Amino acid sequence: MLKAFLNLLLPQICPLCSEDTEDGQFCQKCLSDIRLITSPICLCCGVPFISQECEDHLCGRCIKKEMPFSIARSIGVYEGVLLDAIHKFKYNGKNSLAKSLVKIMASAPGMRYHKIDGGIVFGKTSGVVFNNSPDLIVPVPLHKTRLKERGFNQSLLLARGLARIYNLPMDYLNLKRIRATDHQVNLKGKDRLVNVKGAFAVEDRDAFKDKKVLLIDDVYTTGATISECSKVLKKAGAKDVNILTLARVVNL
Ligand SMILES: [Zn+2]
Ligand SMILES: [Zn+2]
Repeated sequence: MLKAFLNLLLPQICPLCSEDTEDGQFCQKCLSDIRLITSPICLCCGVPFISQECEDHLCGRCIKKEMPFSIARSIGVYEGVLLDAIHKFKYNGKNSLAKSLVKIMASAPGMRYHKIDGGIVFGKTSGVVFNNSPDLIVPVPLHKTRLKERGFNQSLLLARGLARIYNLPMDYLNLKRIRATDHQVNLKGKDRLVNVKGAFAVEDRDAFKDKKVLLIDDVYTTGATISECSKVLKKAGAKDVNILTLARVVNL
Protein backbone atom coordinates (compact mmCIF):
# COMPACT_ATOMS: atom_id res chain seq x y z
CA MET A 1 0.00 0.00 0.00
CA LEU A 2 2.74 2.37 1.07
CA LYS A 3 4.68 1.64 -2.12
CA ALA A 4 1.61 2.28 -4.25
CA PHE A 5 1.00 5.54 -2.40
CA LEU A 6 4.60 6.67 -2.84
CA ASN A 7 4.43 5.77 -6.51
CA LEU A 8 1.45 8.07 -6.82
CA LEU A 9 3.34 10.92 -5.20
CA LEU A 10 6.67 10.29 -6.92
CA PRO A 11 6.04 8.35 -10.10
CA GLN A 12 8.94 6.03 -10.98
CA ILE A 13 9.74 6.88 -14.56
CA CYS A 14 12.74 6.54 -16.85
CA PRO A 15 14.53 9.91 -16.71
CA LEU A 16 15.00 9.84 -20.48
CA CYS A 17 11.79 8.63 -22.09
CA SER A 18 9.38 8.93 -19.13
CA GLU A 19 8.27 5.29 -19.43
CA ASP A 20 7.18 3.73 -16.14
CA THR A 21 9.99 1.80 -14.47
CA GLU A 22 10.38 -0.13 -11.23
CA ASP A 23 13.02 2.08 -9.67
CA GLY A 24 13.14 5.38 -11.52
CA GLN A 25 16.31 4.32 -13.35
CA PHE A 26 16.81 4.12 -17.11
CA CYS A 27 14.39 1.71 -18.77
CA GLN A 28 15.64 -1.36 -20.64
CA LYS A 29 14.82 0.21 -24.00
CA CYS A 30 16.99 3.29 -23.30
CA LEU A 31 19.79 1.15 -21.84
CA SER A 32 19.86 -1.08 -24.90
CA ASP A 33 20.08 1.98 -27.17
CA ILE A 34 23.50 2.90 -25.72
CA ARG A 35 26.27 1.91 -28.16
CA LEU A 36 28.93 0.34 -25.93
CA ILE A 37 32.54 0.67 -27.03
CA THR A 38 34.06 -2.74 -27.70
CA SER A 39 37.17 -4.13 -29.40
CA PRO A 40 38.85 -3.52 -31.76
CA ILE A 41 40.07 -0.37 -30.04
CA CYS A 42 43.34 1.54 -29.62
CA LEU A 43 45.41 -0.12 -26.89
CA CYS A 44 46.26 3.28 -25.45
CA CYS A 45 43.54 5.88 -25.98
CA GLY A 46 40.68 3.42 -26.48
CA VAL A 47 39.31 4.89 -29.71
CA PRO A 48 37.21 2.24 -31.49
CA PHE A 49 38.31 1.27 -35.01
CA ILE A 50 35.80 1.33 -37.84
CA SER A 51 37.04 -1.94 -39.29
CA GLN A 52 35.96 -4.93 -37.22
CA GLU A 53 38.55 -7.12 -38.98
CA CYS A 54 41.49 -6.38 -36.70
CA GLU A 55 42.86 -6.89 -33.22
CA ASP A 56 43.34 -4.09 -30.70
CA HIS A 57 46.37 -2.02 -31.70
CA LEU A 58 47.78 1.49 -31.29
CA CYS A 59 45.99 4.17 -33.32
CA GLY A 60 47.90 6.60 -35.54
CA ARG A 61 47.73 9.41 -32.99
CA CYS A 62 49.13 7.28 -30.16
CA ILE A 63 51.95 5.97 -32.38
CA LYS A 64 52.91 9.52 -33.34
CA LYS A 65 52.80 10.98 -29.85
CA GLU A 66 53.17 9.26 -26.50
CA MET A 67 50.22 10.00 -24.25
CA PRO A 68 50.84 11.14 -20.66
CA PHE A 69 48.47 8.41 -19.40
CA SER A 70 48.81 4.63 -19.81
CA ILE A 71 45.35 3.57 -20.85
CA ALA A 72 42.08 5.40 -21.50
CA ARG A 73 38.80 3.56 -21.76
CA SER A 74 35.25 4.76 -22.25
CA ILE A 75 31.99 2.94 -21.76
CA GLY A 76 29.78 4.18 -24.60
CA VAL A 77 29.74 6.33 -27.73
CA TYR A 78 28.75 9.95 -27.04
CA GLU A 79 25.56 9.98 -29.09
CA GLY A 80 21.82 9.31 -28.83
CA VAL A 81 20.48 8.42 -25.39
CA LEU A 82 23.89 8.58 -23.70
CA LEU A 83 24.49 12.11 -25.01
CA ASP A 84 20.98 13.05 -23.95
CA ALA A 85 21.51 11.59 -20.47
CA ILE A 86 24.84 13.39 -19.99
CA HIS A 87 23.34 16.70 -21.14
CA LYS A 88 20.44 16.34 -18.70
CA PHE A 89 22.92 15.36 -16.00
CA LYS A 90 25.21 18.33 -16.59
CA TYR A 91 23.14 21.17 -17.87
CA ASN A 92 19.65 20.62 -16.50
CA GLY A 93 20.95 20.08 -13.00
CA LYS A 94 19.53 16.57 -12.87
CA ASN A 95 22.19 15.26 -10.57
CA SER A 96 19.79 12.49 -9.56
CA LEU A 97 20.92 10.86 -12.83
CA ALA A 98 24.35 10.21 -11.30
CA LYS A 99 23.17 6.94 -9.76
CA SER A 100 21.90 5.61 -13.10
CA LEU A 101 25.05 6.69 -14.93
CA VAL A 102 27.37 5.13 -12.36
CA LYS A 103 25.37 1.93 -12.71
CA ILE A 104 25.88 1.99 -16.48
CA MET A 105 29.64 2.45 -15.99
CA ALA A 106 30.05 -0.26 -13.38
CA SER A 107 27.90 -2.81 -15.18
CA ALA A 108 29.53 -2.47 -18.62
CA PRO A 109 31.00 -5.87 -19.55
CA GLY A 110 34.69 -5.04 -19.08
CA MET A 111 34.07 -3.23 -15.82
CA ARG A 112 33.32 -6.39 -13.86
CA TYR A 113 36.30 -6.77 -11.66
CA HIS A 114 37.83 -9.34 -9.43
CA LYS A 115 39.81 -8.80 -6.32
CA ILE A 116 43.51 -9.57 -6.22
CA ASP A 117 46.00 -9.03 -3.43
CA GLY A 118 45.88 -5.41 -2.51
CA GLY A 119 43.42 -4.29 -5.11
CA ILE A 120 41.27 -5.04 -8.11
CA VAL A 121 41.75 -5.78 -11.77
CA PHE A 122 39.07 -5.09 -14.29
CA GLY A 123 37.86 -7.94 -16.46
CA LYS A 124 39.12 -8.75 -19.91
CA THR A 125 35.86 -9.26 -21.70
CA SER A 126 35.56 -6.03 -23.63
CA GLY A 127 37.23 -2.78 -24.47
CA VAL A 128 37.22 -1.53 -20.91
CA VAL A 129 40.32 -3.09 -19.44
CA PHE A 130 42.82 -1.97 -16.86
CA ASN A 131 45.52 -4.45 -16.06
CA ASN A 132 46.59 -2.83 -12.87
CA SER A 133 44.66 -2.06 -9.78
CA PRO A 134 44.23 1.64 -9.05
CA ASP A 135 45.20 2.96 -5.61
CA LEU A 136 43.11 6.07 -5.93
CA ILE A 137 40.14 7.40 -7.88
CA VAL A 138 40.37 11.06 -8.87
CA PRO A 139 37.69 13.09 -10.69
CA VAL A 140 38.60 15.76 -13.24
CA PRO A 141 38.01 18.93 -11.21
CA LEU A 142 35.84 21.92 -12.12
CA HIS A 143 36.96 25.48 -11.55
CA LYS A 144 35.19 27.06 -8.58
CA THR A 145 33.30 29.55 -10.76
CA ARG A 146 31.95 26.72 -12.93
CA LEU A 147 31.12 24.75 -9.79
CA LYS A 148 29.12 27.71 -8.52
CA GLU A 149 27.24 27.93 -11.82
CA ARG A 150 26.41 24.24 -12.00
CA GLY A 151 26.17 23.45 -8.32
CA PHE A 152 27.98 20.14 -8.63
CA ASN A 153 30.89 18.49 -10.40
CA GLN A 154 29.52 15.75 -12.65
CA SER A 155 32.85 13.90 -12.71
CA LEU A 156 33.03 13.91 -8.93
CA LEU A 157 29.57 12.32 -8.68
CA LEU A 158 30.61 9.58 -11.11
CA ALA A 159 33.95 9.06 -9.34
CA ARG A 160 32.27 8.90 -5.94
CA GLY A 161 29.81 6.25 -7.11
CA LEU A 162 32.60 4.13 -8.61
CA ALA A 163 34.81 4.54 -5.55
CA ARG A 164 31.96 3.16 -3.44
CA ILE A 165 31.34 0.21 -5.74
CA TYR A 166 35.01 -0.72 -6.05
CA ASN A 167 35.79 0.13 -2.44
CA LEU A 168 38.66 2.41 -3.45
CA PRO A 169 39.69 5.69 -1.88
CA MET A 170 38.83 8.86 -3.78
CA ASP A 171 40.73 12.14 -3.69
CA TYR A 172 38.82 15.16 -5.00
CA LEU A 173 40.70 17.86 -3.15
CA ASN A 174 44.30 17.67 -4.32
CA LEU A 175 43.93 17.98 -8.08
CA LYS A 176 42.62 21.46 -8.72
CA ARG A 177 41.54 23.53 -11.67
CA ILE A 178 43.32 26.79 -10.95
CA ARG A 179 42.29 28.67 -14.07
CA ALA A 180 38.78 29.06 -15.43
CA THR A 181 38.79 27.85 -19.02
CA ASP A 182 36.44 28.41 -21.95
CA HIS A 183 33.97 25.62 -22.60
CA GLN A 184 35.92 23.02 -24.59
CA VAL A 185 32.72 22.37 -26.56
CA ASN A 186 33.24 25.62 -28.48
CA LEU A 187 36.83 24.85 -29.44
CA LYS A 188 38.60 22.62 -31.92
CA GLY A 189 41.76 20.44 -31.78
CA LYS A 190 44.81 22.55 -30.95
CA ASP A 191 42.73 25.32 -29.34
CA ARG A 192 41.52 22.79 -26.78
CA LEU A 193 45.11 21.99 -25.80
CA VAL A 194 45.95 25.67 -25.44
CA ASN A 195 42.75 26.29 -23.48
CA VAL A 196 43.59 23.75 -20.75
CA LYS A 197 47.35 24.28 -20.64
CA GLY A 198 48.37 25.21 -17.10
CA ALA A 199 44.74 24.99 -15.95
CA PHE A 200 45.41 22.30 -13.34
CA ALA A 201 47.65 22.05 -10.30
CA VAL A 202 48.25 19.70 -7.41
CA GLU A 203 47.72 20.96 -3.89
CA ASP A 204 49.43 18.25 -1.82
CA ARG A 205 51.96 16.31 -3.88
CA ASP A 206 52.14 13.55 -1.27
CA ALA A 207 48.55 12.65 -2.13
CA PHE A 208 49.65 11.20 -5.49
CA LYS A 209 53.23 10.13 -4.83
CA ASP A 210 53.81 6.58 -6.15
CA LYS A 211 50.06 6.10 -6.62
CA LYS A 212 48.31 4.40 -9.49
CA VAL A 213 45.54 6.85 -10.27
CA LEU A 214 42.27 6.17 -12.07
CA LEU A 215 41.11 9.52 -13.41
CA ILE A 216 37.38 9.87 -14.06
CA ASP A 217 35.62 12.22 -16.48
CA ASP A 218 32.22 12.24 -18.12
CA VAL A 219 33.26 12.62 -21.77
CA TYR A 220 36.51 12.01 -23.68
CA THR A 221 36.48 14.36 -26.65
CA THR A 222 40.00 15.06 -27.92
CA GLY A 223 41.70 13.96 -24.71
CA ALA A 224 43.11 17.46 -24.10
CA THR A 225 41.68 17.85 -20.58
CA ILE A 226 42.59 14.40 -19.31
CA SER A 227 46.05 14.62 -20.89
CA GLU A 228 46.72 17.86 -19.09
CA CYS A 229 45.46 16.39 -15.79
CA SER A 230 47.61 13.28 -16.34
CA LYS A 231 50.72 15.39 -16.93
CA VAL A 232 50.15 17.29 -13.69
CA LEU A 233 49.54 14.06 -11.73
CA LYS A 234 52.66 12.44 -13.18
CA LYS A 235 54.69 15.53 -12.31
CA ALA A 236 53.41 15.24 -8.74
CA GLY A 237 54.85 11.73 -8.60
CA ALA A 238 51.95 9.48 -9.63
CA LYS A 239 53.31 6.13 -10.74
CA ASP A 240 50.65 5.55 -13.33
CA VAL A 241 47.52 7.27 -14.62
CA ASN A 242 44.64 5.46 -16.29
CA ILE A 243 41.51 7.14 -17.58
CA LEU A 244 37.91 6.08 -17.46
CA THR A 245 35.14 8.13 -19.01
CA LEU A 246 31.45 7.43 -19.31
CA ALA A 247 31.32 8.46 -22.96
CA ARG A 248 33.63 9.09 -25.85
CA VAL A 249 33.31 11.17 -28.97
CA VAL A 250 34.18 9.06 -31.99
CA ASN A 251 34.79 10.08 -35.61
CA LEU A 252 36.02 13.57 -34.85
ZN1 LIG B 1 13.67 5.05 -21.19
ZN1 LIG C 1 45.08 5.83 -29.58
